[in-house]
Amino acid sequence: MGPYQRRRPFLLAFTASLALTAVSTEAFITAHQHHDCSGEDCLICLQIETARHLLDGLVRAVAALMGFYALTVRVIVKAPVFLGPAPPTPVSLKVKFNT
Ligand SMILES: [Zn+2]
Repeated sequence: MGPYQRRRPFLLAFTASLALTAVSTEAFITAHQHHDCSGEDCLICLQIETARHLLDGLVRAVAALMGFYALTVRVIVKAPVFLGPAPPTPVSLKVKFNT
């Protein structure tokens, strides 16, 4: 079992929790959007604002993770693929050393 496969359940649970958080936060905002507002110190408006900040943070975190993934995994690990074929080796050239 490789390191990615060992982390896979954790990554799936982490992704599912992020998605659940985003969906439930958006549902909260939608449900309370047209509430009976008590004015300037309305606690529901304060909660909606907090939820919007949470969603903004989630979007920025996911964008940063995607950018980090694109820069590290895709470029560094797969860079030899983009650099062309591997240089020839004695094995690839079928050189015989013991003639
Ligand atoms: Zn309000």
